[in-house]
Amino acid sequence: MEKVKLLIIGAGPGGYVAAIRAAQLGLEPVVIERSDVGGTCLNWGCIPTKALIAAAEAYSSAISSGSMGIICEPSFDWTKVIEHAKNAVSKNRKGVQFLFKKNGIRLVSGIAQFTGKKSVKVGETEFEAQNIIIATGSKVKDIPVFAVDGEKIISSDHALFQEKLPKSIAVIGGGVIGVEMAYIYRTFGVEVTIIEALETIIPFEDHEISKELTKEFKKKKIKIHAGAGVEKVEKRDSKMVVILNDGKEIEVDQVLSSVGRSPNTDDLDLGTAGIETDERGFIKTDHLFKTNVEGVFAIGDVIATPMLAHTAEHEGIVTVEQIAGIKVHPIDYRLNPGCIYCQPSIASIGYREFEAIEKGIEIKVGKFPFSANGKGVASNHTTGFVKVVTESGTGKIIGAHIIGYGATDLISEFLPAMKLGATVYDIIESIHPHPTLCEATLEAALNSIGRTIHI
Ligand code: NAD
Repeated sequence: MEKVKLLIIGAGPGGYVAAIRAAQLGLEPVVIERSDVGGTCLNWGCIPTKALIAAAEAYSSAISSGSMGIICEPSFDWTKVIEHAKNAVSKNRKGVQFLFKKNGIRLVSGIAQFTGKKSVKVGETEFEAQNIIIATGSKVKDIPVFAVDGEKIISSDHALFQEKLPKSIAVIGGGVIGVEMAYIYRTFGVEVTIIEALETIIPFEDHEISKELTKEFKKKKIKIHAGAGVEKVEKRDSKMVVILNDGKEIEVDQVLSSVGRSPNTDDLDLGTAGIETDERGFIKTDHLFKTNVEGVFAIGDVIATPMLAHTAEHEGIVTVEQIAGIKVHPIDYRLNPGCIYCQPSIASIGYREFEAIEKGIEIKVGKFPFSANGKGVASNHTTGFVKVVTESGTGKIIGAHIIGYGATDLISEFLPAMKLGATVYDIIESIHPHPTLCEATLEAALNSIGRTIHI
């Protein structure tokens, strides 16, 4: 049995970032990974989708740049588009491998399994650790009535790298993965139908944001069936037929199932260590990521916090610093930004308008469209708006929601601002560079107090 200070199971964004911070703090982490470093985010999620989205944006701006005097007849080679995504993955993976070497982190390849409260085996090797962090992430949720077969019914894992595009696809689930994949496939000419059980696509966003994306997707001729769940999916000849519980039938070549993800705990043998999970299979932790077993922590998608790479990274750092004896603070998940990278892109933080109203908070809302923003007009990025939700009277910013080009970068203005308890007056008194899309943020703040300049 090898004795180690810190064992980290999983080298996704949660695990590998925790390992780097742990190495910096002298905790000499050993990381166990059964596949490639980088986890879902780098290999099957954020990075390859962003590469495909960048290609989709390049293609669609080539198509639409005639109004700027650019004359071309764009076409695309899907094989090369996929190659671009694979290259992005491989470069980023090499980057993480380099960081492991640079920080002297030992990486053990194989499947980790608990053999006791503080012991884990990987193949023939057994470790006893002072502390263990479980960062094993999540996997695609499979629903029996439309079980993924990798050919006719695929998951996002298959959709990212499939060699041939279908003529038509039904996307079951209009959440984050559903709308990002719908945007990519539609841009490359596939007929896309999104089926969402709830009343709108991206139902968890501010209502005006969901409405705006629905409008923009309809302009792209993406069909949307919201408010109807899927009863079953049948194969009829070479077609797939999606049967909805309102009786409608949708015939397509392929089906993408994007109805959520579930925690990855199958191989861990948590029972042997006595680590508790909740009814959905997530590992239970307290607000500082401690499981019920002393010295065992869990972070990232395997616990019931938002399934986002940046959230997992932050949870990893808080956990490792805590193990090293540094005073840490519980994470305020209200200040955890959410981003959707289709076009128009979406980013949000804090209270949505309806949520603040439900909570009985007296609010004022400010909004500003990119169609009235100088840079937006000059660069043909006029879709969408910035919306701020503020506390009446004080002007304290309690929510920000952006839809439009660059939203996922523009949201950053609100992160330290809200962490520091900023008001719209702080935003207004900050000189914003001109001409930039971030002036829409300034104008939304002005709008919340009736002082908009450019409308
Ligand atoms: P999700 O929870 O975001 O969306 C799933 C959607 O499917 C929901 O809107 C739900 O109402 C709908 N649905 C469920 N069952 C259905 C049915 N039978 N018929 C029709 N609709 C149904 O899940 P996801 O999009 O699969 O993403 C998984 C996780 O990964 C999420 O937590 C997401 O935040 C994360 N993720 C984040 C990003 C990003 O940050 N850009 C990208 C990809 C994934």
